Amino acid sequence: MFKNKKNYAAESPKLSDNVNKEINKEIGFKDLKLSKPVMQAIADAGYENPTPVQAKAIPAVLSGSDLLAGAQTGTGKTAAFTLPILHLLAEKPAAVSRSGRPRCLVLAPTRELAAQVEESVKTYGKYLPLKSTAVFGGMSIVPQIKALRRNVDILVATPGRLLDHVGQKTVDLSGVEIFVLDEADRMLDMGFIVDIKKIIALLPKQRQNLLFSATFSEKIKTLSASVLHNPVFVEGAKRNAASELVDQSVHLVSQRLKSHLLSHLIKHHKWKQVLIFTRTKNGANRLADKLAADGISASAIHGNKSQPARIKALAQFKDGSVTALVATDVASRGIDIDRLPHVVNFELPNAAEDYVHRIGRTGRAGSSGKAISLVDKEELRYLKEIERFIKREIPKVLFDSFVPPANMPAAEPRNPLPQRQGSRKIYGERTSAAAGSRNYPPRHGYAKKQNNSKGNIAKSKVR
Ligand code: AMP
Repeated sequence: MFKNKKNYAAESPKLSDNVNKEINKEIGFKDLKLSKPVMQAIADAGYENPTPVQAKAIPAVLSGSDLLAGAQTGTGKTAAFTLPILHLLAEKPAAVSRSGRPRCLVLAPTRELAAQVEESVKTYGKYLPLKSTAVFGGMSIVPQIKALRRNVDILVATPGRLLDHVGQKTVDLSGVEIFVLDEADRMLDMGFIVDIKKIIALLPKQRQNLLFSATFSEKIKTLSASVLHNPVFVEGAKRNAASELVDQSVHLVSQRLKSHLLSHLIKHHKWKQVLIFTRTKNGANRLADKLAADGISASAIHGNKSQPARIKALAQFKDGSVTALVATDVASRGIDIDRLPHVVNFELPNAAEDYVHRIGRTGRAGSSGKAISLVDKEELRYLKEIERFIKREIPKVLFDSFVPPANMPAAEPRNPLPQRQGSRKIYGERTSAAAGSRNYPPRHGYAKKQNNSKGNIAKSKVR
């Protein structure tokens, strides 16, 4: 039916390397209790083990629960909902079978994704008598109308074109048993919220809802709260997803002011638990001492500390008796604290992957983790690399209530480098206007977010 479907399918992403590494070989597909025809299709696809999001989502969907899944493209998310849906629909034949009346509706933001998802439905459902079709804009509606005249069990659609079909009465959504919102965040970014609400109003009240999103903004939380009932929450590959789930920001601040700003942030926000990364072991020691001198309980862990000292520091950090744990990358590897609220990059790592790894310590399980990076102008090139790697710009934040201590030595004159990055000020750097005096941010409101662009590469909006 879709002549150019192959082109869309050709764009199908590969399972990302991160996900490959995270596949837990102890959970096999056979443990997920999927029916034989589905298992056969999985074997044909050459999948050996479920990806993390599949291992968690499939049992939840099979149990009939609503699902909130944090997963990006490349995590195997499509199979995570398609496989159990095929199982469920095949197991329980339709009460009423009528043409143009799907039992499962998958909404996707773009035609490319809709085509890919329907391709997956066909691939994984090839040994089942279930029928699927996809409707999306950018092509004639006539062949879609013809396809909807036949029995359709699974309909994959972009919101606008689906509403066109609703308007033409070529689709009847009153029989939808399972409703999937795929890449819900992207749908909201593309302005589909009104269309989504219209579509939801046409669905029967009694249904299973699955929502997949790479990010968990307030808007997504509001949408999930209105659509989902007691959802099971699952998360895909954490390291890959981390950069999307965490509320990230950057304070542009000169190196010599960083410890002062950090103490101020901890005290001002009354942070109870913050993991701080430094580049060097000495730097970690110095910073922990400085924070302690500022009245903040702090310890350092790094390779030069004995194992018992590291265990003790970690235990104190976990039980809340130590507020700030200062760590180097290597020492931090064993740290696994659920729902860690704050991560601070006292210095940016040279490798962008380390940044993702560091900030992945927070924002887990959809909790609102914050990752703040203190960035000196010498580190701006690392920041650029990181932003390129995570494919989004990190908002630059001014923290106006911060006033550096009066006894600070004047900034050392340096080679002329930009004092302003666009509209961003760098704390503690001289400006030509203020040469000879220190340049601190102006007092106009607190923590002003700038450049809050998402950087998501939105594909064509379709109707
Ligand atoms: P998705 O995140 O759904 O876009 O899937 C990304 C890619 O991973 C697709 O090309 C799938 O064919 C592939 N894939 C999905 N599940 C598995 C698995 N369990 N093992 C290997 N590859 C998979």
